Amino acid sequence: MDRSVSFTLDFEDLRTDPSVQEERVGLVTERILDRLRELEIRGTFFCVGELASRYPDLIRRVVADGHELGVHGLHHIPNDLLGPDRFRSDNREAKRLLSELAGKDVTIYRAPQYSLIPTTPWVPEILTELGFLVSSSVLPARSPLYGWPGAPATPFLWPSGLIELPSPVMKFGPLTIPFLGGTYLRLLPAAVRRRGVRKAHSDTVLWSYCHPWEFDPDEKFYVYEHGGWLVSRVGWLNRKHMLKRVEAALRQGVGRPLGERAASLADLPTFDPAQIEVESESGST
Ligand SMILES: [Zn+2]
Repeated sequence: MDRSVSFTLDFEDLRTDPSVQEERVGLVTERILDRLRELEIRGTFFCVGELASRYPDLIRRVVADGHELGVHGLHHIPNDLLGPDRFRSDNREAKRLLSELAGKDVTIYRAPQYSLIPTTPWVPEILTELGFLVSSSVLPARSPLYGWPGAPATPFLWPSGLIELPSPVMKFGPLTIPFLGGTYLRLLPAAVRRRGVRKAHSDTVLWSYCHPWEFDPDEKFYVYEHGGWLVSRVGWLNRKHMLKRVEAALRQGVGRPLGERAASLADLPTFDPAQIEVESESGST
């Protein structure tokens, strides 16, 4: 099976008070781009539309370096808080902004905080209506924030025809975790990651995810919105080793950008949440 790991980055800015917290996302992302160029790695950059519009030159560099652009919402607000109407208008605008910067149609999407969940089943259909082809927005597990336990852990189609590349997950004690990215990749021993890759189902498309702030040990501490002190502290742990962690995850083989990988998949099963609801209702009577 293909054990290569694709690189993805969520280009976002989590500061709660920009008047006192230094803006470092551009600087840090430039450093990440420098390193990717040295290593000849091409990945997928999921960008918050409003932030991208403030960094047009940086986004043009992302494209010029051969990376793929994706949409990560207009303002990084989870979809359950947006509702369908604002989801549609926000992501139409983000897609327009990013397509203009890319000089081509941007057709891949990632939900802020994996907020494609059982209470936002309208997301895939609206994405298809807006011209998106691929999503990597589902965490098929129970999660302290957002997750869809019971969703397939390997690529599938939504009824609208949108391709979903769910986050790779593994069993870790009583938990199921997205071991290849974010806090998990930054904090857990490398042996956990290696085991996750080894045990992944042969149909899994392996991808890593990270955020600019995770590579920035010099950022001054602040408490995230909705995060609380403890969760925020965890966000500052081991930042100085994140680059090394990501490089190690990619060493056994770098996968192509997600849109390219999705385009080469065939015969995907369809996951229809409405159907599952009907089945479980009729099963219970
Ligand atoms: Zn995000």
